[in-house]
Amino acid sequence: MTLLTERQKICELCRLFWQIGWASGTGGGIAIRVGETILMAPSGVEKENIEPADIFELDRQGHVVRAPDRPFKLTACAPLFMAAFTHRQAGAVLHSHSLHVVLASMTVPAGEPLRLTRLEMLKGLQGVGYFDTHEIPVIDNTAQEHQLADRMEAAVLAFPLANAVIVRNHGVYIWGRDVVHAKTQAECIDWLCRCHVAMHTGGLSNLTHDRSQPTDVA
Ligand code: ZN
Repeated sequence: MTLLTERQKICELCRLFWQIGWASGTGGGIAIRVGETILMAPSGVEKENIEPADIFELDRQGHVVRAPDRPFKLTACAPLFMAAFTHRQAGAVLHSHSLHVVLASMTVPAGEPLRLTRLEMLKGLQGVGYFDTHEIPVIDNTAQEHQLADRMEAAVLAFPLANAVIVRNHGVYIWGRDVVHAKTQAECIDWLCRCHVAMHTGGLSNLTHDRSQPTDVA
């Protein structure tokens, strides 16, 4: 089996994401690019029980090169993963149904991005600082996941500084230069959304008592 290490990594992360609620009920997914080859977790299966042989292999155009022996389907997320591989040269893309991101999406008015500032975990996101106002696009959901592809592509192109697209009431697509980077970006966004929702729910503002200035930070 080719690319066994990366196939094992997808299985390991699917198990991890299932444990923390990002991929329960067969939801969520992961794709890793190795050169011109893209490995993608199958659809509609228990993400905690995927084997390395169950991973699909695609080319850079999104065509299946090798399918698993078991009768699994390619994920309907495939065109959405491809948007990040094609337009942002991503090395890995995750799709999670993180409850924190879903709740955060409900606080964002239609047509606006989620705006985050002055939270330490912003520094974990690529190219973002504590004092920046970071915008993550929020697109509306559709009945079928593959119908999201056009909206996802438009959001990827419209927000070149973001490496995530939130799907309202659904979840989030997050990418990075490699699988570790994509995972840490996802962890930061999960934390930021959890904090955002807690502030929203509790009537708190992170700006009320923050007197720090950009010059305070080395
Ligand atoms: Zn989904």
